[in-house]
Amino acid sequence: MSANTRLCQPLCDCGSGETRYPLKDGYDIFLTYACDHCRKQKLGRYRPDILERYDTDEQIEDDY
Ligand SMILES: [Zn+2]
Repeated sequence: MSANTRLCQPLCDCGSGETRYPLKDGYDIFLTYACDHCRKQKLGRYRPDILERYDTDEQIEDDY
């Protein structure tokens, strides 16, 4: 019985009635809240590659 956990998780503001959860990018930085219904829509406001570590500007040394 984990009824208390539901109380800690507000519903999403998109009106779907789904529990919201924090969206984070590839660096584990908080972006916004979303649920399964609006996640793609909200992620669409960000760069498509934001969920990955954007390393295009930095050269990573292959030091094997
Ligand atoms: Zn939602």
